[in-house]
Amino acid sequence: MHATPSLVIQTSFLGDVVLTTPLLRRLAPRGPVTVVTTPAAAGLLEGHPDVARLVVYDKRGADAGIGGFVRLAQALATDAPDAVAYLAQGSHRTGALARAAGYHHRVGLATSSGRIWYTTAVDTPTGMHHAERLWRLAGDRDAPADVLRPHLAPGAEHVDAAMALLRAHGAQDEPLVALAPGSVWGTKRWPHYAQLAHALRELRPVVIGSRDDAGIAAEVLAAAPRAIDATGRLPLLGAAALIGRCRAVVTNDSLPLHLASAMDTPTVAIFGPTSPTFGFGPLASRRVLVEHPGLDCRPCHRHGPPHCPLGHFRCMTDVLVPQVMDALRQVTA
Ligand code: SF4
Repeated sequence: MHATPSLVIQTSFLGDVVLTTPLLRRLAPRGPVTVVTTPAAAGLLEGHPDVARLVVYDKRGADAGIGGFVRLAQALATDAPDAVAYLAQGSHRTGALARAAGYHHRVGLATSSGRIWYTTAVDTPTGMHHAERLWRLAGDRDAPADVLRPHLAPGAEHVDAAMALLRAHGAQDEPLVALAPGSVWGTKRWPHYAQLAHALRELRPVVIGSRDDAGIAAEVLAAAPRAIDATGRLPLLGAAALIGRCRAVVTNDSLPLHLASAMDTPTVAIFGPTSPTFGFGPLASRRVLVEHPGLDCRPCHRHGPPHCPLGHFRCMTDVLVPQVMDALRQVTA
C-alpha cells in the first residue's frame, strides 16, 4: 500500500504528549511518523514503536528565534505531495512551521489559535477527552475506549532503573501504591498525602514526581517512614515503568495521572479547582475520580489558579483521607 508520511507537532505539556500517543498509533500504519516535541518531553517518546523520527524543538534555547525556526523547517521539509502535518499543539508558530516545511495538508483542532494555518480544522464536542480530540485529527470518529488509552514504551533500561530503586529499599516483591503529591500548579495539589501515606497498611507508598517535588515528598516521608522516595530519581519512562509495577496510583490532575493511564495502572485521581470534563481525566481501565461533592465554585480555572480566589480552598482541603482510601479500595479490589 502507498505510504503517507505524517508530521505530528506536539510541543505542549508532558501530559498532552502522553495523550497524543493514540493519534501516533493511528497514524503509524499509514506511513512513517515524525514527531516534533520539546526537550523536556523527548524522553517520553524515546524508543516509541509508533515514532519513526523524533525531532526536538528547543524554542527557548538552541532553536530560539527566526534562525531556529528556519533551520527546523528545513530539517522537516517534505516534498511528498500527500504528506500530512497534524498540529497537536495549536499555536500560530506550529502551524506556520508545518507550512514552511512544505506540508500542503495541515490538520488541527478548530478551537486552536493557529487554525488559520490549517487546511482541515476538526470540530470536537465540548467535554470530549483530549486523547480523543487529538485522535480525531486522523479523520476518524467514535473511538473505542481501548484505542484512546495512551501507550508508552519503557525500555529494559527504564525497567531496570525502576527495579534497582525498589531493590535498594528492599521492596521488589511488596505490594506498592504510587503517590504523586506534586503539580506545577499549587492549587491542584491535594494537601493530605502525608496523612494518606501514614494511614496505608497493606500497600507500601512510593512517592513519585520530579526533582521539584522533593519538598512535598519530604513531608510524606516524614509521616510514613516506610515510604520510598522516587522523586527526581528516574527518567520519565523509568517513572512510567515504576508506576506500571504499582498496584495503584493516587494522583492529582497532573502528569502521573497520564503515565498511569499509559501503563493501565489502577488510578485514584483527585480533582480540585479543575474538572475531568476539561478532557484530562484518567483512562486506565480501573479508575475512580475523587472530587468535592458540592461546591458551586468548582471548577474555577483551566489549570488551577495560583491561589484560591475565595481564600478557603475547600475543593481540596475538604477532600479527606477516608474518601481517598475508599477510592483506593475500589480500584484495588
Ligand atoms: S474557588 Fe473553589 S474551586 Fe477554586 S480554588 Fe477555591 S475552593 Fe477551589
